[in-house]
Amino acid sequence: MFDKNIINKFKKIKTPFYYYDLKVLEDTLTELKKQSDKYSYTVHYAIKANANERILTLISSYGFGADCVSGNEITKSIRTGFDKNKIVFAGVGKSDDEIMCGLKNDIFCFNVESIQELEVINALAASVNKTARVALRINPNVDAKTHQFITTGLEENKFGINGWEFEDVIKKLKELKHIETIGLHFHIGSQITDLNVFKGLCIRANEIQSWFNDHGLEFEHINVGGGLGVNYKEPDENLIPDFNSFFSVFNKFLELRGNQTLHFELGRTLVAQCGSLISKVLFVKEGVNTSFAILDAGMTELLRPALYQSYHKIENLTSEGDVQNYDVVGPICESSDTFGKSVKLPETKRGDLIAIRSTGAYGEVMSFGYNLRDKAAVYYSDEFS
Ligand SMILES: *Cc1c(COP(=O)(O)O)cnc(C)c1O
Repeated sequence: MFDKNIINKFKKIKTPFYYYDLKVLEDTLTELKKQSDKYSYTVHYAIKANANERILTLISSYGFGADCVSGNEITKSIRTGFDKNKIVFAGVGKSDDEIMCGLKNDIFCFNVESIQELEVINALAASVNKTARVALRINPNVDAKTHQFITTGLEENKFGINGWEFEDVIKKLKELKHIETIGLHFHIGSQITDLNVFKGLCIRANEIQSWFNDHGLEFEHINVGGGLGVNYKEPDENLIPDFNSFFSVFNKFLELRGNQTLHFELGRTLVAQCGSLISKVLFVKEGVNTSFAILDAGMTELLRPALYQSYHKIENLTSEGDVQNYDVVGPICESSDTFGKSVKLPETKRGDLIAIRSTGAYGEVMSFGYNLRDKAAVYYSDEFS
């Protein structure tokens, strides 16, 4: 991904910083648009994966909708060009202010996670004389076979309405005059690489939709959430995700009614591969069984490895020495501040430039100021040409 020219430019910049390759992002969006148009599917970008202004503006320019999980995400998505009529709002704990933000902006749909939330949205909508469009977020009890911290569709997880509450939901909806139920929503987890998991979701969704139809409730749309995984091990082999195979699973196994539309909320797959965290080696220190390469980037810039033991490919951009094993760690006073153990790198010295790949999703947006760290700078590929 990095040629000599760009590495020479990186050498002159203060590290650590995020680097976004806009060509990779544009190629990804072009492919996504082509494949989703083929099936007439609607894609809402999950803002929480990367809420960087330039990236949002680029994604919105392709006409995709937004999937928001806070009031501030709603406001920012509108400011960066997303159409209000294509905003969905999810989240297990929406505050009254956030619900009002969605109502005031007449967003497309609230994805509602409990009966109590339905009641609150109904009351708030009544107070401003509006009707809220909602989709029921169902917990389908499907195992996403991904890391336990990013699985969301099991009964033990906090998300969605569970099967034993369906009858009560139907009863409640008859009482709520300021709610219009327009959809059925699912989101079972993130970084799902086994497409069979999505087939399983389709089969459960078919059963659940039939149950609601039998009980007198019809839906204009089905929303199957996001979660399509990316190749963290070898990013260059799959810079552009295989959207066609993903969509074709739903085309084949999900039973849509007459005019029903199908919606997706993809986050990670749109933005992961366009981003890299660029850092410098501060020190190399001999440990008992390993050497530590201590970087000037840490968990404060990239939290995923510490938060859910995630793997990112690590490259030394400036060494061609013999390959050795390094534990690549950050400078923060926490042992979990580790980017990789026994990472094979060419001989690594103080001052070498390190790229941590596939950090466009859940990277910059999760950075925080622990240890009073400065916020990492951000650069885009078009600033280097
Ligand atoms: C996070 C989230 C997504 C996006 O997940 P990705 O794995 O990034 O595709 C979609 N829908 C909801 C409700 C989410 O919380």
